[in-house]
Order: sequence, then structure tokens, then C-alpha cells
Amino acid sequence: MANKWVYLFKEGDATMRNLLGGKGANLAEMTKLGLPVPQGFTVTTEACTQYYEDGKLINDEIMSQIMEHVGKLEEIAGKKFGDKENPLLVSVRSGARASMPGMMDTILNLGLNEEVVEILSTKSGNPRWAWDCYRRFIQMYSDVVMEVGKKHFESLIDKMKAQKGITEDVELTADDLKKLSEQFKAEYKSKLGEDFPTDPKAQLIGAIKAVFRSWDNPRANVYRRDNDIPYSWGTAVNVQMMAFGNMGNTSGTGVAFTRDPATGEKKLMGEFLMNAQGEDVVAGVRTPQHIDQLKDIMPEVYKEFVEICNTLENHYRDMQDMEFTIEDQKLYMLQTRNGKRTAFAALKIACDLVAEGMITEEKAVSMIDPRNLDTLLHPTFDAVVVKTREPIAKALAASPGAASGQIVFTAEDAKNQAAAGKRVVLVRLETSPEDIEGMKAAVGILTVRGGMTSHAAVVARGMGKCCVSGCSDIVMDEENKVFKLGGKEYHEGDIISFDGTTGKIYDGEIPTVEAQIVGEFGKIMEWADKYRTMKVRTNADTPEDARKARELGAEGIGLCRTEHMFFEGDRIDAFREMICSDTLEGREAALAKLLPVQQKDFEKIYEALEGHPVTIRFLDPPLHEFVPTSEEDIEKLAKAKSKTVEDIKAIINSLHEFNPMMGHRGCRLTVTYPEIAKMQTAAIIRAAISVSKAHPEWKLKPELMIPLVGESAEFNFVKKIVVEVADKEIAESGINLEYEVGTMIEIPRACLTADEIAKEAEFFCFGTNDLTQMTFGFSRDDAGKFLDSYYDAKIFESDPFVKVDQVGVGKLMEMAIKLGKAARPEIHIGICGEHGGDPSSVEFCHKIGLDYVSCSPFRVPIARLAAAQAAINSK
Ligand code: PEP
Ligand code: MG
Repeated sequence: MANKWVYLFKEGDATMRNLLGGKGANLAEMTKLGLPVPQGFTVTTEACTQYYEDGKLINDEIMSQIMEHVGKLEEIAGKKFGDKENPLLVSVRSGARASMPGMMDTILNLGLNEEVVEILSTKSGNPRWAWDCYRRFIQMYSDVVMEVGKKHFESLIDKMKAQKGITEDVELTADDLKKLSEQFKAEYKSKLGEDFPTDPKAQLIGAIKAVFRSWDNPRANVYRRDNDIPYSWGTAVNVQMMAFGNMGNTSGTGVAFTRDPATGEKKLMGEFLMNAQGEDVVAGVRTPQHIDQLKDIMPEVYKEFVEICNTLENHYRDMQDMEFTIEDQKLYMLQTRNGKRTAFAALKIACDLVAEGMITEEKAVSMIDPRNLDTLLHPTFDAVVVKTREPIAKALAASPGAASGQIVFTAEDAKNQAAAGKRVVLVRLETSPEDIEGMKAAVGILTVRGGMTSHAAVVARGMGKCCVSGCSDIVMDEENKVFKLGGKEYHEGDIISFDGTTGKIYDGEIPTVEAQIVGEFGKIMEWADKYRTMKVRTNADTPEDARKARELGAEGIGLCRTEHMFFEGDRIDAFREMICSDTLEGREAALAKLLPVQQKDFEKIYEALEGHPVTIRFLDPPLHEFVPTSEEDIEKLAKAKSKTVEDIKAIINSLHEFNPMMGHRGCRLTVTYPEIAKMQTAAIIRAAISVSKAHPEWKLKPELMIPLVGESAEFNFVKKIVVEVADKEIAESGINLEYEVGTMIEIPRACLTADEIAKEAEFFCFGTNDLTQMTFGFSRDDAGKFLDSYYDAKIFESDPFVKVDQVGVGKLMEMAIKLGKAARPEIHIGICGEHGGDPSSVEFCHKIGLDYVSCSPFRVPIARLAAAQAAINSK
């Protein structure tokens, strides 16, 4: 049998969302419920994908089914396309599985032509209405099907109104509208060089193709990427008999929500316009009336509408967003869907629905989009103000939140000016560990280079600070403290704003609103914790971050990056002395200065975690990241080491690497300089001993993690050094302390040989930042430059540094788990790459059986919720 590409509304239902799209499935469901729905048919999402497979063509089979359904609809309606007696007019709307702004939305009144409009005009005795429909149709069709652009038509309307000395569209007479239709058609012809189509069937095919085309327009592609919607889904097209809201003062149209989408409050919200068609309400040409006023204008219709709202909410067991039209006192439902809502409203609605006995706790947990929680945890722009502003650029939304402040170009300036009470934003080519304190002082960070796992992105996320990275539109001159963007020059002190949730950058100031964690947040999180099976830890390098993460529900530290600790205060001096020593004794002397400092840091972290597990990783980055860059610092170091400035410069040069990410870093540092790992082991074990003495009830068990292992012998070499020091420290302390030595799994070879590594490694933690980098061979700092082209070419749908590549990287992870567990069944395995805070990646981690995910503190609630959803979905 041939494929079925087209369904009448009465042939479908809500379960067919994948095939009919959200709008089509719900129109079918409302039909099934016996609600007043103008009838029609849906061309399926599969027909859309087929259209693309066929080289953007509607093939014969699909075409003939569309025409067959036009016939069926004509029968149901008792009207015919282009008929002299009873002409059929339809609306054409897109409808993907998930609602998607950015795609073609609606064409109304399709089926009109010069002849049909005259018939409607005479038969209805309402020529104004007939001509109004026609001019709207030409306008919408030209705009969305032929992409002529709305503004040409709007200016013709404005010109007409000015000539007549009127301000409102409703004041235009039938004659005016007729004249406008003529002008519109002339405009169409002048722009496209052909006449406006008169055959309704040709109009319909044009409109269906436009909907299919709009699935692939740039706005839709961006929206899909931001919202995890696969390109392969395609969109459906709904063709529906028109109900006319513009037939006079007994007609109207409106939209309504069963609960307040901003606050979640249970009350009917909405607005309508009398004598108008759909887009008038949204377009704001006239000020709509509040839905309550419908009660006075048409009490019967209002009563029926309220009943339908209740039916729909009870049926879908969620807040509904509906569109309706009243045609001469008769109510029609044009759409219903689960309404979009703020994060605040989402939590309240979910909790209220549970309290009302409408849904279970599990359902409530599943209803919340984890990504929405960001807006509850970070500042946001004032919604009213930001709507009035055009972004000057868009780059990677690297860390959520909104920032507005005076530009500074160096970390030092950020620190000083923030201390003087200014709100500053740090704009840099890229950031490095040296910039940490400046990043802390700034309200936001904007970088020219770098991807989603670049230093700026990772560190900002850890701090819960807004960051937009990889803005290659910026022409930067850091030395002279000036950059160009959007045709303007920006100097220190100029104000700029950016949004780390959308990646948009704005000129000037936009007020921000502080985050507020509200009552229902706790309830949803409590339920999430009840249903999830995977633990959630955090990536935290400081006691403050660790405390914040605990507040947000972290159950341990999955990754403490020790390198960041070396930049505070004057620790960097001792660290530089270590790097620039040419003897073991010299290095040991410098490390001896660092040991007590590290020990103190670790003690504070253990205290903040109150006995929950803490994984501390040995120094990972290449040493050149720590060397001084300014002449002043180089001179200082030369003095401290009793060397010449030239000697120090020569050492710095010798540390230069062509490919530092694959260079002298990670466990390779311990192979060459075992004394660094020795010092860090002593600091960790001593800290655990001292905190254990104060809190024996916490039963601390340090987890020492070796980075960048690719070979079991490499791991074994480092472990031996670590165990020797740890055992000696424990023996000397006289207390009994257990500890574990494990490894990051972040090199493809480690996955391939995980059974060998697991013989000695007591735990694994996937470093999917490096694992992604090395599996694809994409630099995590530079991939942002070319990924856009990959999206445009449909090679990638998402950034593999954000959303774990389940096919390739995921396969390596599964292999590592299988091999690791076979060699050591009790091994515990987690993830601490940035993917640990991405909802779809968290779901994958659940599926492959990880014990925990670890993410930056502010993403802990997101991971808790995503882990719960994964557990609920897999039941
Ligand atoms: C990783 O590579 O995924 C990781 C967590 O380590 P880092 O980001 O510090 O390289
Ligand atoms: Mg790594």
C-alpha cells in the first residue's frame, strides 16, 4: 500500500504528534472530543522530510493525496475551491512536533481571487468583509510564500490611511480595501514579474511548499539548535476551513491561557478583538480587550468558551494555550497546546496540578524543562526593556545570566575598578588561568575566541557568571584597549550588555533583574531527588563554590581542578619559582612553600562538603600557562631565582609548545616532575587527616584523580608515587584513613584499554571535554570558529562540546564502562566534562549506567532534574 501522507482531522488523535505535528494532533484530538473545530486535513511531517529527500519537490503521490483530501474537505464543508455559489476558503499553518517560532506560521483566506471575492461580497451582503479578507490574503501570501516582505504592503496601507485622514484599519471602507487589493497585486507583480495566482489549488500548493521551506530557514535552524530539536523531524502542514472573525461586530478572534503563563496562577488569561482576524491580536495594530470582557459582549459564547477551556485542561492535564474565532456568534477552536510559560510559572503549575490531583509527582518532574531553571538561578535582563533592543551581535551562549556594565580589557582593571564600586564587564581575546580574579570581579565575560569548553566558558560556568564566548565579529585591539563591533568603536568605560543564555550582545545598558529561588523550586527538586538513581556531584575548585553547590544539592565534588588554586594572592610567585628551577632541589624548595597553602585549601573544601565524597585532580594544564608575561613579573621572578631576565625568558621560551593541549600536561607532568604529585598527595592526605581528626563522624575517603591517562603503565607509574606518599603520611598520622586512586578517562586510548587501566584504577571519571576534543580531533578552544559552517552544511546539529556525541564519543564511553567493570566490578564511574550539566547528555549518562554526573555548581539543579527525568522516562 502506498504511504499515507495526508490525514483528515477526524482520522487522527493526540498520540500521533510525531506524524501530524503538535498543532495537527491537537486539532484531531479536539475533533475527537466533539469540540467545535473547523474541519480540515494535515499533511504529515513525513511528507516534509520526503519533500527534502526529493530535492524540494512535492512528489506525485503526495500531491495526489493532497488533492484527494481537498475533495474530501469540500464534501465535509459543502463548499468548493473557486466555486461560484459556495466558495471554500482555508487557512494554512505549519505545525512541527514542538512549537517553533521562526517558521512560517499562517496564511488565512486562501482560495480567494477576483471572482470569488465578488461572490462573497454579494452573497454575504458584507463587501467590506470580503475585500478585507482578500487584501489580507494577498498580503500574507506575498509575504510568506513569495517572500516579498510585509513592509511594502504596510506602507501602502499607511499611505491610504493618511490620504483619508484616518488612523485605524477598521475605518477603511470596502472601496478602500478594494483599491488596496489592486495596489497590492500591482506591488506583487512589480516585485515578482508575474501575476498574483488566481487558481486556489495552485495557491494551496504554493503555501504548503512555503511551510516545508520554512523548516529550513536560518531562524528555524538556529531555534532548533538552541532547543535540541532534530532537523529530521520535519514539519506538518494544517489546511483548515476558515472561520471568519472579521465578519462584523458579532465576530472576533482571540487567544487565551487556562493559567497565567507568567506567574502560573490558576485563572483564565487572554485577549480578543472584535471584527478582526488572527494576526491582528498578535500584531498589536489595535489594542485587544481582556477575555473577561467577552462575558458582557457575548455571554453565551463566553460560557461555552470557559467550558471548553476546562474540558481541555482536564483532558491534557496541563495549562492550555488556545486560539479561537467567533464567526457571527458561533465559537470555533483553532488550536490548543500546552502553553509556554516562565520557569517560575512552570514550577507553580506543576506543583498545583499535583495538589489538584491532576498529575503524579513523576509527571510534574517530567514537565519542567531543565534548561529553564537557568532563569531562576541567574540574573536576567528586564524583559520589557530587552524587547525594545536589537542585538549588535550573537556568539556562543557560554554561561547563563545577563550582564550589563562598563568595559574593561584586563583582569587587573576588572579587579581594581570593581573594587572602586563599578560594575564592569571583562572583554578579552580569550582568558587564561591568570585572569581568574578579574573574572570573579566582573559581572560578565565576553571573549573573541574560544568554544563551549574553553577556559572562559568553563570557569565562568563554575562561578555562575554570565559569559558569551567566541564572538569573532569583534575586531580586538587589546593593547590599545579598544574593539570594534557592529560598526562602532568601544573603549574602556563604554557600556555594553550581553546575555549568556542567548549569546546576544547589545550596545549600552540594559537593566538586570536578580535571580530568585522560589518555594516551588524546592518541592520539584525534592521530587526529582526521590526519583533519580544517578548521583549529582559538582566541579568546584574553591570552598565558596563547593558551599554554593551543596546549597544547590550537590552530593559531592566530582572534580576539583587544583590549577586554579595557584593563582590567588602570591601563590603564583612560588609556583613560578618551581617552574623556573633547573634542579630538583630548587623545585622542591618552591613546592614546600605551596604545600601548606594547598593543604589549607583542601581542608576548607573537605569542611564545606561535610563528609560527602571529594575527588581532587592532580595538576593538569601545561606549565607555560603559569609563566609570567609582563616584564615586571619576569624581573621579579629573576630576582627571586637569582637569575638574569634573559635566563628566565629562555626558560619561558623552552616551555613553548606547538600543540599544548596535546603536549606536556596531565599525568605527563608527574612522569617528568614526580615532586609535584608528591606535594599534592601530601597536601590532600594531610588535609583529610586533619579534618578527620576534627570530624571522625564524616569518614573521609579522599579520591585522588590522575588526569590524561592513555596507557595503564602510565597510570601505574603515577599511582605508585601517589601511594608511597599517601601511605607514609597516613602511617605517620597514626589514624586509619582509606583513600582511592582513580583516573580521568579523557583520551580515546584510555577507553580502548580501560580493562588494563581498571586493574589498578579504583574509579573512572569521564573527561568528555578532552575526550570530545581528541575523538574528533577538534580543538576545544577553536572549534567555535568553524562549527557554524558545520551547522549550515547540516554536518552537525549541535555542538559536540555541549551535547555529548552519543554515536562516537558515547561508543567509547560505553566501551570503557564495559571493559572497566569487567576488570573491576566495584569500580565507580562518573563524568566531569561540561556535558555533565547538559540535560540530554545527562540522560545518556543514565542510560549507560554512570554512578554520577558532575557539573558546575549552578547546573547542579539542572542535572538533578535531568537525572530524575531520565530515570522516570526509562521506567
Ligand atoms: C575534561 O577534559 O572533560 C575535563 C573535565 O577536564 P578539563 O576540562 O579540565 O580538561
Ligand atoms: Mg581534561
